[in-house]
Amino acid sequence: MSAPHMTPEEFRRHGHAVVDWIADYWAGLDDRPVRSQVAPGEVAAALPEVLPATGQDFATVLEDLDRVLVPGLTHWQHPRFLAYFPANSSPAAVLGDLLSSGIGAQGMLWATSPALTEVEQVVLDRLAGALGLPDAFRSDGPGGGVIQDTASTATFTALLAALQRATGGAARAEGVDGRLRVYASTQAHSSLQKAVVMSGLGESSLRLVGVDPVTQAMDVDELGRLLADDVAAGLVPVLVQAAVGTTSTGAVDDVARIGEVARPHGAWVHVDAAWAGVAAVCPEHRWIHRGVAEHADSYVTNPHKWLLTTFDCSAFWVRDRTPLLGALSLLPEYLRNPATETGAVADLRDWHPQLGRRFRALKLMAVMRTYGLEGLQAHVRDGVRLARRFADLVEADDRFELVTEPVLGLVVLRARAGDEETLRLMHALNDSGEAYLSHTVVEGRTAVRVAVGGWRTTDADVDRTWQALSGLL
Ligand SMILES: *Cc1c(COP(=O)(O)O)cnc(C)c1O
Repeated sequence: MSAPHMTPEEFRRHGHAVVDWIADYWAGLDDRPVRSQVAPGEVAAALPEVLPATGQDFATVLEDLDRVLVPGLTHWQHPRFLAYFPANSSPAAVLGDLLSSGIGAQGMLWATSPALTEVEQVVLDRLAGALGLPDAFRSDGPGGGVIQDTASTATFTALLAALQRATGGAARAEGVDGRLRVYASTQAHSSLQKAVVMSGLGESSLRLVGVDPVTQAMDVDELGRLLADDVAAGLVPVLVQAAVGTTSTGAVDDVARIGEVARPHGAWVHVDAAWAGVAAVCPEHRWIHRGVAEHADSYVTNPHKWLLTTFDCSAFWVRDRTPLLGALSLLPEYLRNPATETGAVADLRDWHPQLGRRFRALKLMAVMRTYGLEGLQAHVRDGVRLARRFADLVEADDRFELVTEPVLGLVVLRARAGDEETLRLMHALNDSGEAYLSHTVVEGRTAVRVAVGGWRTTDADVDRTWQALSGLL
């Protein structure tokens, strides 16, 4: 028999049904429990045969979606999903992503789809401008940008570039030695720890610097002492990571002071702004980037969190692409082509660990074009305003307290009754399905995080979440 590919007409029909399904899914989210309530194994046990001997109509997939999968989903686009950070999947991004899937291009080389590479560069140049990032990050300057799958991969990539620069290529040729060190605050995202593991530097190469007990931002004086001691002991500072918006509390490190302290020792300054960075589309939030233009060797922010762009889409820039390309360029015979030989094109496979890459810029461009700068600003401002609204409700109830001053769209609070009660409230709320929050530990004490910024979250959702949470006490 010949392969049963869908005919164009069948594709059109099922495609319309899928778009209808998504629109209905969004419309009905409000009535569903935010966090999935299934037990382990329940979804797997309810699945039909996933490889039937003969193919079935696509409609059966949609039927199982409703019957089996949806109850097993935690609804990240739910208006009261306030856990972790938002992973916004706006309608424009979904359509852009669908186009990318349909085009199905693979952009490992400029030559394998020139538009894929050039759209990505233009979109990132424009986004860098909108965030107030330095001109050096632009593709027509010494640096440039690339879309990575995640901030974790971007940070790993930054570390590889930093190793290339610090060792003059010896790390690439011979491997890493035991004198190399990496620095970040105790509040740094775990992806940096994973990066030192993957790079072969090992976890003992990572030096964690203390933070201010109130702001949770890095103690830069302590960083300075650590760097000086390490250098005096013959160690080599490779990279210092500054956090612009930590995952736990949204703390913003002082990039300017970190740069002043780190750069004289030759360390690469990487800025992890995975969640918060996109807020700089608003002039009033630009302060978070103070020092980035002067000091950052690399920078990452995730449009796939707050900025409405369906996962995965992580924007990564470097000030100077030479060490990055030095670290990762390879040209096997089967990838040789005339365009690469001219040296006039960017082959983005050299900008990250993997070879193959999909057309992610299309969904980001769809978001940027359809929202426009003003639309993106309105979205960010809405999130910040709603977070302030939640914080005001907390402050008006003396059974609760804010743990840190809210940063942008993140509110961190606790019940005054203590850690156990704080956790009990959060779990009870999550079990109820009314809203979904996550927790952290700040200065040794349990706290609950409320991460606002979802594209469907309204004033009413913030109020309803607060009533549900405080009503459980
Ligand atoms: C979310 C987050 C990351 C990791 O993001 P991924 O894109 O999932 O790898 C890294 N750093 C910070 C500060 C984050 O908030």
